[in-house]
Amino acid sequence: MTQKRDYYEVLGVDKNATDEEIKKAYRRLAKKYHPDANPDDKAGAEEKFKELSEAYENLSDKQKRQMYDQFGFDGPQFGGGQGGGYYSYGSGFDGFSGFSDFNDLGDLGDIFSSFFGGGGTRTRASSNSPRKGADLKVNLDITFEEAFLGAEKEITISRNEECKSCKGTGAKAGTSPVTCTTCNGQGRVKQVVTTPFGQMATQKTCSVCGGTGKVIKEPCPDCRGKGKVRKSVKISVKVPAGIDDGRTLVLENQGEPGINNGPKGDLYIVVHIKRHNIYSRKGDHVFCEVPITFTGATLGTEIEIPMVDGTKEKYKIPEGTQTGTKFTIKNKGFKSVNGNWRGDFVFTVTVQVPKRLTHTQRELLVELAKTMNEQPPIKKKGIFG
Ligand SMILES: [Zn+2]
Ligand SMILES: [Zn+2]
Repeated sequence: MTQKRDYYEVLGVDKNATDEEIKKAYRRLAKKYHPDANPDDKAGAEEKFKELSEAYENLSDKQKRQMYDQFGFDGPQFGGGQGGGYYSYGSGFDGFSGFSDFNDLGDLGDIFSSFFGGGGTRTRASSNSPRKGADLKVNLDITFEEAFLGAEKEITISRNEECKSCKGTGAKAGTSPVTCTTCNGQGRVKQVVTTPFGQMATQKTCSVCGGTGKVIKEPCPDCRGKGKVRKSVKISVKVPAGIDDGRTLVLENQGEPGINNGPKGDLYIVVHIKRHNIYSRKGDHVFCEVPITFTGATLGTEIEIPMVDGTKEKYKIPEGTQTGTKFTIKNKGFKSVNGNWRGDFVFTVTVQVPKRLTHTQRELLVELAKTMNEQPPIKKKGIFG
């Protein structure tokens, strides 16, 4: 066996090289030693490329680099130094786990895919490591008034919960999962694949334990070994006053359970505000139409306006008010969710023309009409208006 070259030497960088310098050196050399770029010496280039990849894998990973700096090839990670050790070229390509910044490497992706016939896909980090559970999303319909005042709502969601019978282990009460002998609890097994450069070792998820590293001999009957059961759960949600339509509330740790003791996912609640048949909303302002009588509009009147919170607000309509006139009651709109201000309450009056009159009313109106039998001037509209 030939003597292994120092990783720094392979990459042609200084011992104090930054991550960026290491990456740069790797990019440059990977292109140079790509077998396709060396048709005269494919075998030699391949050797160089393997050496380079191993060096990069170890120096680009902070922890591995530290181990290497401290122990060299004899470090505990290097599996007794036989044949390139545990972190051989093959395992260096184990789902590119060493290439945490794989995406940053840009066109190098092409190099990898040409190695594996387009198979340069990334797999997750070790499949038996803790992972956050999936997030859930639900819709919540609330009324206009609830959005205005805020509300405490109860929603029912369906999610997986830890099985109480087996405490989530999936093993029948009194038993417990045992370490998978196929992968020795690693969750992954080595696999030899044939590539254009000969056989290489990669790793794949252990099919016996499904990557968990544990095997259940006697599954829990309540969850059939899954460790979790589907449940309908009631959750109370505080909807803040002033919330707008389409906003999302996030309840942390109310999603699906985590994997391998990872944290729970989150619950996203998308709030929808039902249409109101009196009020509408724009930003923090409330709008509505208020009918007034034509005598009230003509002579002026005091009316009571129903507010969104159920209270009534007295308002003086001045004499001579035209239909379509807007009035604003300050600070009676929605509370701002982000601040301490309130929107306004804006109402538009519509003057009602009576459809039926009593005899007396008619007489009076006729008398009135006699005093104002002039047609009002026609208002000019349009672009010259
Ligand atoms: Zn169970
Ligand atoms: Zn296994």
